[in-house]
Amino acid sequence: MLFKQLFEPDSSTYSYLLACPNTGECAIIDPVLDTAQRDLSVLQAHNLKLTYTIDTHIHADHLSGASRLKALTDSKIAYPAIDELPCADIGLQEGVTFRVGTIEIHPLFTPGHTDHHHAYLINTPVHSMLFTGDALMIDGVGRTDFQSGDSEVLYKSIQQKFFTLPDETLVYPCHDYERRHISTIAQEKERNKHIAGKSMEEFKQTMEGLDLPYPRKIDFAVPGNQECGQCPDEIPEQYQGPCARFDQGE
Ligand code: FE
Repeated sequence: MLFKQLFEPDSSTYSYLLACPNTGECAIIDPVLDTAQRDLSVLQAHNLKLTYTIDTHIHADHLSGASRLKALTDSKIAYPAIDELPCADIGLQEGVTFRVGTIEIHPLFTPGHTDHHHAYLINTPVHSMLFTGDALMIDGVGRTDFQSGDSEVLYKSIQQKFFTLPDETLVYPCHDYERRHISTIAQEKERNKHIAGKSMEEFKQTMEGLDLPYPRKIDFAVPGNQECGQCPDEIPEQYQGPCARFDQGE
């Protein structure tokens, strides 16, 4: 399996390219609109045709690259089925394996950051790879104070769905703001400052005390992502760049 971790610096988002070596089919988990052209260059450099984009949830901090990549490559758009997005081609759900060539992707329903959030687990012959979205990050967790966030629900998702996986499971988050790239379940169980060794009550208090700023892109990112990353009309001027570039046929 060809695997690449890709980065979008404005929202500090990691996207993940997974390609089946047998069929050439490939997927990108959590692509970003701003870097769709870069993603296309990576695909071309490896002679790959994008088959699917897969989102973990309706993002509030960036516009998804799903629709743009579909326009550029004819890829299909996969989202959690319970989002019921009319723009999605495929709905993913826990218990139903999703195949990209010979790669088997296991969706895990992990609400709390948003109420429909899913993570994705892949078991390779060497190790397991967990794409945690915004549910679990490196020494952090996704915020729970907007959209449909709920810290009690997130606590249960992390404890019951993630921390019951083997210690060696590799953790690939959707974001890191300090350019860390990877963690493991063991490391997060032992060191994550928000949840390691914490009771639910302690976790709730930690999350309530974070006092985070209002997400700067949420007002246009959420409606845009409910349309799989379309650019809404009311996008502020300073964020119009990635939308305008596509309008000009770039
Ligand atoms: Fe998020």
